[in-house]
Amino acid sequence: MEACDLVIIGGGPAGLAAAVAARQAGVENILVLERDSRLGGILNQCIHSGFGLHTFQQELTGPEYAARFVSQVKGLGIACLCDAMVLDLAADRTLTVIHPERGIFTLHPKAVILAMGCRERPRGALNIPGFRPAGIYTAGTAQHLVNIEGKLPGRECVILGSGDIGLIMARRMTLEGAKVKVVAELMPYSGGLKRNIVQCLEDFDIPLKLSHTVVNIHGKERLTGVTIARVEQGLPVPGTEEYYACDTLLLSCGLIPENELSRGAGVELSLVTNGPVVNDRLETSVPGVFAAGNVLHVHDLVDYVSQEAAAAGENAARYILEAQTQTGPEIPVTCGPGIRYTVPQKIRLESRDEDVTLRLRVDGVYRNRRLTVLAGDAPVSSKKRRALAPGEMETIRLSRKPLPVGIRELRVLLEEG
Ligand SMILES: Cc1cc2nc3c(=O)[nH]c(=O)nc-3n(C[C@H](O)[C@H](O)[C@H](O)COP(=O)(O)OP(=O)(O)OC[C@H]3O[C@@H](n4cnc5c(N)ncnc54)[C@H](O)[C@@H]3O)c2cc1C
Repeated sequence: MEACDLVIIGGGPAGLAAAVAARQAGVENILVLERDSRLGGILNQCIHSGFGLHTFQQELTGPEYAARFVSQVKGLGIACLCDAMVLDLAADRTLTVIHPERGIFTLHPKAVILAMGCRERPRGALNIPGFRPAGIYTAGTAQHLVNIEGKLPGRECVILGSGDIGLIMARRMTLEGAKVKVVAELMPYSGGLKRNIVQCLEDFDIPLKLSHTVVNIHGKERLTGVTIARVEQGLPVPGTEEYYACDTLLLSCGLIPENELSRGAGVELSLVTNGPVVNDRLETSVPGVFAAGNVLHVHDLVDYVSQEAAAAGENAARYILEAQTQTGPEIPVTCGPGIRYTVPQKIRLESRDEDVTLRLRVDGVYRNRRLTVLAGDAPVSSKKRRALAPGEMETIRLSRKPLPVGIRELRVLLEEG
């Protein structure tokens, strides 16, 4: 174990796909470290179907999708250590790990892939007034209680936030016999996938109130109700308050990439994605440290996590086997109005043989637009999109061949279209 070439932190879909790709690219000594007692990450609690449509052209549940990668990892003889929590990552790639039987130990691999996923934004980060009664959960915690522990957190429920986890839990709670009274969303659009709004809310007649938020929490020991109100320009509108009696409030108010280890290693983080700033090899600002999956930026579809992580695995393999690193010049990828972020944020100029995949999100709902990429003044890609929304990640594939020599930046624009 001490002699491993590549350590992958996290045994979720990103870590597993990265491990498979790195082994297929020729890295022998790989170790996946997972703090949970089993591999699969968040997919283990996602028992609904809808995974793997792109990767396997099949509709799988989360555990089924994870199991396919776990069996590939096992089939390739890749070492995985569960119950192993990485406590620290240093800038020279020394990892400090704790494990119930092995105690605390250190590793110094040639490369590291960050695949730690993300966590949910809790109530403490939301500034909701009122007491702190029992009955308020993040949607993912409620999902764990229902799907893994077989416990229903409540009977009458309000959901704040219309991200995918909130939408999926609205359906799940309904199927388990609870009454979901409303989903309130602060923004004028949903943060979730269109298919989840249809399949999880509309199919079950659950109302979605856009531009609404919870302004008060009632109940001292156990939640008895919440007040929601309409929001304009970020402020609740007096006179629009509505009281909903409920014993459960589920919060689905955003995911935060888990980057405490990355920060400790001195990895540069993006203020927009909260994940590492990477180049087109998905290599962070610390040489030999790569990142993929939800730790890099929050994904809506696991298939894209697997694709991105496979690229990180191949790139880490190149780094290890060919001693290739980010030495040459890099140019930034900049965003025009309407584009929230791109990943990667930088492109290496010296390598003209590999294509570039840009993943991005827009900052609002747009119709009939064009996503255009300019290299200097020259357009190198332009594609028409009928509808764009913040909840749906966009992907642009660029061939390096037409990239002009001497450009200073790639600029992504959202144009009328
Ligand atoms: C409720 C929910 C519903 C979803 N529904 C769908 C869907 O219908 N279809 C779809 O395609 N996608 C869906 N997704 C998205 C998909 O599940 C995620 O994009 C994917 O799981 C992210 O993979 P990951 O490996 O980056 O992160 P995770 O799955 O979160 O895995 C990260 C792993 O890293 C481990 N870890 C973290 N820190 C450490 C450490 N310090 N040491 C060791 N291990 C560590 C964690 O324990 C975890 O196992 C859903 C996600 C959620 C949360």
